[in-house]
Amino acid sequence: MDYIKKSLKLENVCYDIRGPVLDEAARLEEEGYTIYKLNIGNTAPFGLNAPDEIIHDVMYNLKNSQGYCDSKGIFPARKAVMQYYQKKGIMDVEIDDIYIGNGVSELITLAMQGLLNNGDEVLIPMPDYPLWTASVNLAGGKAVHYICDEQSKWYPDLDDIKAKINEKTKAIVLINPNNPTGANYPIEILEAVIKIAKENDLIIYSDEIYEKITYNGAEHTSIATLTDDVLVVTFSGLSKSHRVPGFRAGWMMLSGPKYHAESYIEGLNILSSMRLCSNVPSQYAIQTSLGGYQSIDDLVLPGGRLKEQRDLAYKLLTDIPGISCVKPEAGLYLFPKLDTEKFNITNDERFILDFLVQEKVLLVQGSGFNWPNPDHFRMVFLPSEEDLRIAIGRLKKFLSNYQQ
Ligand code: PLP
Repeated sequence: MDYIKKSLKLENVCYDIRGPVLDEAARLEEEGYTIYKLNIGNTAPFGLNAPDEIIHDVMYNLKNSQGYCDSKGIFPARKAVMQYYQKKGIMDVEIDDIYIGNGVSELITLAMQGLLNNGDEVLIPMPDYPLWTASVNLAGGKAVHYICDEQSKWYPDLDDIKAKINEKTKAIVLINPNNPTGANYPIEILEAVIKIAKENDLIIYSDEIYEKITYNGAEHTSIATLTDDVLVVTFSGLSKSHRVPGFRAGWMMLSGPKYHAESYIEGLNILSSMRLCSNVPSQYAIQTSLGGYQSIDDLVLPGGRLKEQRDLAYKLLTDIPGISCVKPEAGLYLFPKLDTEKFNITNDERFILDFLVQEKVLLVQGSGFNWPNPDHFRMVFLPSEEDLRIAIGRLKKFLSNYQQ
């Protein structure tokens, strides 16, 4: 009998990107099938490797990395992050405002644990990167989703945000560039969000892990550069731009009126010390990564592998009858829409599972990103052009006679 139960804290916590469909994929692999994995933004299996100098720096410093470090991170890494934001124009950032973590993931949960009391509300984009919703719920808060509008390039619906603010609302989360939609928000949207945050005393949490992965030279704006009178917590790291997701190297930076947040900062410091420190060897990758030539540009500019793969995947997908898609301006994903009436789809997880079992291609259902309707899925365009052609070709064939 199953008498050892998970904690009630986990009642509303879910992370479907690594959820039940993955178990079925593992089972099929055990049976000997090759699965085309277009489900997670993990660069390494697709031959997208880190620049050599980063690996070199980590190896070179390995001997010096045996001890715990300051719980907020090693000095050169924090200083490099501080200067990185100063160069973007945020002048009041100090070394104490930088926290290094085991990836952005750890810092997201830490930031929410440090802020929320039971019932406090946080505005989160819909669709979202589901770790945000999970972290808010785990911390006892309530994730309130605001619409990102597919008809308007997936930008946040500002009226919906305003309508969902009440006295319990503590913060608003932006994922910019966005996972899963690929939207890269223009300055006008960011300024409007700042205005809303200011009028309602909200903290802005801005997850910018894809900030360097924008296509055709599109600029990315860190919202923290546009305000010094709203508290902004900015997150970024090396996982995607420097192709080292396994290193677990990320950071968060506080800017704006920190003097209003002394107690919160004390809480963040307590939580940071409780995990002793972030993995030390990986922190030695940060200074090198942020300085000098940015090799990600070779992948995202015209002719670059990621840009070409994005264009190909977008074209092949939107050629399939019953699929439409907003072309991603940034990031590693497409979030296409299915004509649910045509295919009679009422359960998107069922659709993803049926496709996996029949065609051995793994995607993620839109509901895994807290999208409320069963009419979207997410596809990663990291695989080679050849593999993308095979996987999307299988989807076309599958949908040609799929009915739920
Ligand atoms: N934030 C977003 C929007 C992501 O897509 C991801 C990973 O896919 C993360 C955070 C996690 O990043 P890290 O590897 O730094 O934990």
